Amino acid sequence: MIRQNLETVEENIQKACERAGRNREDVTLIAVSKTKPVSDIRQAMECGITVFGENKVQEIRDKTEEITEPLSWHMIGHLQANKVKYLPGKVCMIHSVDNVKLAEEIEKQFARHDMKIDVLIEVNVAGEESKFGLSPKEASDFVKEIAPLSHLNIRGLMTIAPYTDNAESNRVYFKALRELKESINGMNIPGVRMDTLSMGMTGDYEIAIEEGATFVRVGTGIFGERNYAAAQNIK
Ligand SMILES: *Cc1c(COP(=O)(O)O)cnc(C)c1O
Repeated sequence: MIRQNLETVEENIQKACERAGRNREDVTLIAVSKTKPVSDIRQAMECGITVFGENKVQEIRDKTEEITEPLSWHMIGHLQANKVKYLPGKVCMIHSVDNVKLAEEIEKQFARHDMKIDVLIEVNVAGEESKFGLSPKEASDFVKEIAPLSHLNIRGLMTIAPYTDNAESNRVYFKALRELKESINGMNIPGVRMDTLSMGMTGDYEIAIEEGATFVRVGTGIFGERNYAAAQNIK
């Protein structure tokens, strides 16, 4: 099933790239494996997937302990500052930076390991109350404030668009995130040149690609529905 799903997703990504006149290489598929067992991740690996996304630090720790092959792990979920210390050496990118305290803790913990880490600023473009992330208005001041932190590479922006049956209705938010990235780049903040947009999930990744996504984060479309109750027992 995973193989078949991946073929479908890949085909959809290629078509979206064609529609938008973009190169397939400019879009990276992150297979979001949260709540899913290591056996599912191994199946995806057999299909050539090497980039995985998780939203819980504990799950990243458990899974990277079991799967020692060189993979790229992305932390895509809300991150508490007290958990950052577990991430150096485990993840290649943190997508969910949205407050100064968190950014400073990332700086401190990665500096201790003499490592730099790629980060994205999470923006709540649609202004949903239930979501984390900065408002688009706050984003540029925030970037200016954390730009001096030398162990963070601020690579771009991330958003989680509203859950909807009508993917087309999220196009405005993806467009807004791209425009926000361009506007921040235009400010010439020292050390900041954003080239990354993490946007689009199972329901709307094709629209996100049309609007410039460089990372799409697809879980259900690859691994099937998540069962959070059963996932408690996942090692
Ligand atoms: C779970 C999750 C995804 C994947 O969602 P699907 O709808 O299953 O594709 C993407 N991004 C984030 C931040 C997530 O937490």
